[in-house]
Amino acid sequence: MRFVDGTDCPLCGEATADREALRLHLMCQHRKSELTDLSLALLGEAPASA
Ligand SMILES: [Zn+2]
Repeated sequence: MRFVDGTDCPLCGEATADREALRLHLMCQHRKSELTDLSLALLGEAPASA
């Protein structure tokens, strides 16, 4: 698990520096707003149970 220092793109595994970088990556590389919203929602909920 590598949640501390960065976030990997859930779609392609690309390593991004942080959640904002991942959001930009999703918008630029994937251009699928539904997947972006879903991914951010999952990221937002993940840390709470850790
Ligand atoms: Zn990606």
